[in-house]
Amino acid sequence: MAALDTDALGAWVREYARAVTEHREELTELDSAIGDADHGTNMHRGMTAAVAALDATPPADAAALLKTVAMTMISKVGGTSGPLYGTFFLRMSGALDDGSPAAFAAAFRAGVEGVVARGKAELEDKTMVDALLPAADALTEAVEAGQELDTALRAAADAAAKGRDSVTPLVARKGRASYLGERSAGHVDPGAASAVLLVEAAATTLPG
Ligand code: ADP
Ligand code: MG
Ligand code: MG
Repeated sequence: MAALDTDALGAWVREYARAVTEHREELTELDSAIGDADHGTNMHRGMTAAVAALDATPPADAAALLKTVAMTMISKVGGTSGPLYGTFFLRMSGALDDGSPAAFAAAFRAGVEGVVARGKAELEDKTMVDALLPAADALTEAVEAGQELDTALRAAADAAAKGRDSVTPLVARKGRASYLGERSAGHVDPGAASAVLLVEAAATTLPG
């Protein structure tokens, strides 16, 4: 099936690289308010290198493609977000099954669970998890209700954005932003913002 083939997932990864590049300054600006002003630079560097690695060595299959993205994010990004996104793509790679929407939803969830296991963030700690977990839930629910994958991903992207916005008023409890204590409240979390772009990229590229 088309949803999980190499071309489709490659288009998703490339669209994500394009989106983080487009929003690079905005992501860095968010990180300058509650972090160390490098999130846009980190994501741009990592995802651009991932696309270059895919161009240099075309992957044999969809799992190999996601693994290349994972290893590149881990090796090229010094910040916290590199290992976390790397874990997402690595776990997703290992969980790919057939090409069905249900398999995609399960693999996406496995990726998110990997981020949670590695970073130990819970909901409302104000991290990328606050965008990723609601997205995984919405995706699973929509796919189980029989929606087409593109419709389910639209619901997931909307849930991710809602999750990102829901933690803006909160105080960060993980990562650099947590060092600010109360002063982190009222700012959008940069990792939650880049996670919304990831799900948006899936919604705009993956077939129905
Ligand atoms: P660094 O903080 O090392 O400079 P980045 O700026 O690239 O790394 O990424 C910061 C983002 O990483 C935060 O906005 C947050 O969403 C995410 N993050 C930080 N710590 C964790 C964690 N323990 N679990 C999940 N996400 C985290
Ligand atoms: Mg940073
Ligand atoms: Mg940093």
